Amino acid sequence: MSLSSTDPEITQAISEETIRQTRALEMIASENYASAAVLEAVGSVLTNKYSEGYPGSRYYNGNGVMDTVERLARERAKSLFGADHANLQPHSGAQANMAAYLAVLDPGDTVMGLKLDSGGHLTHGSPVNASGKTYNFVSYEVDRDTHLIDYESMRNTAKASRPKLIIVGATAYPRLWDFAKAREIADEVGALLLADMAHISGLIAAGVHPTPVGHAQITTSSTHKTLRGPRGGMILCDRELRRKINSGVFPGTQGGPMMHVIAGKAVMLKEAATNEFKEYATQIIANAKTLADHLQRNDFNLVTGGTDNHLLLIDLNNRSITGRDAADALERAGIVTNFNSIPFDDKPVREGGGIRLGTPAITSRGLKENHMSSIAEWITRALNNIQNEIELEIVRKEIQLFLADFPAPGIDLNT
Ligand SMILES: *Cc1c(COP(=O)(O)O)cnc(C)c1O
Repeated sequence: MSLSSTDPEITQAISEETIRQTRALEMIASENYASAAVLEAVGSVLTNKYSEGYPGSRYYNGNGVMDTVERLARERAKSLFGADHANLQPHSGAQANMAAYLAVLDPGDTVMGLKLDSGGHLTHGSPVNASGKTYNFVSYEVDRDTHLIDYESMRNTAKASRPKLIIVGATAYPRLWDFAKAREIADEVGALLLADMAHISGLIAAGVHPTPVGHAQITTSSTHKTLRGPRGGMILCDRELRRKINSGVFPGTQGGPMMHVIAGKAVMLKEAATNEFKEYATQIIANAKTLADHLQRNDFNLVTGGTDNHLLLIDLNNRSITGRDAADALERAGIVTNFNSIPFDDKPVREGGGIRLGTPAITSRGLKENHMSSIAEWITRALNNIQNEIELEIVRKEIQLFLADFPAPGIDLNT
């Protein structure tokens, strides 16, 4: 029985969400449109299979085909990123991090990560996250003036606290990372280096951002952000850590892997190895830089004064509105973003002194540099009129009309 005949309510919800995803400018920096091929793999019968264990050593029978799928995914990840070993089983980026921590740390061990309001992630030691409850997290920050990663603060904090693990990577940092320098610091204090490339893994795969592989002994990632795959995670690591990482994932923190999603990740990895994907990733950055220029001309302050990657952070301090109010008004105008803390923010986390914008999803729809001035104008009009529902509605209509020429990958509105 089809979904529409068994469950009209969920059918209706999916249909409404499909329309929402196509009519609005999707500018959440961590979101993207998975291809039709990825969606097909994820919607397959592979969801029915229990495959606890790893290829060649499973706890259930009937896994011959699953071994093929997981080996393909693993080999493609190793070759795309030049890694010794890849584990594609983590259910998400957060799960990948927890598994990696379990693999190399004991409860109470000291770990150093980027501070949350400097752009760090929840799983890098937030007190409300298992990471912060289980390990003793200390943090380094961005520089107070430039808002760039302060490698001296990283080195000094590392020397003072002697962490067993140093984490580099962020959820809201618009510039490039110097992974070689981070490894140097880790070596100085005898720490392992973990690079969390969740946001930038697609850029790294395409060679438009420096790779942590070869510097960090462990690299974790989400697969649904710039990599444009299914919702999920993965871990790459040096040969010597292969066993520890594998058992950190299973049986350490997960049960059976989602083989349908691993198949989707395999498809994603094949797509990410193409020249088209390199062009795509190059375009993501070109779009972000162009959008940054236009917004700055319209008197918006950007954290670090611009971007080198796929995201920008608008600092709203010169506008006397909170990130939350700005993001809500933008949504009413058909521009979907999120409110975000900015470095040394004096606003509560749930209001945010800024908004984060990303170009991965709109670039997947085929938008180029010459479209960025219109986007900057729409953002400016919306944020200059956050109480003016008529103006917000006009912007929303203009965007909807504009986007009709840019079909979203994986979405066929005729079915
Ligand atoms: C998104 C993100 C994660 C978590 O990924 P999920 O797939 O949402 O669990 C981890 N680390 C960083 C830096 C991220 O940006």
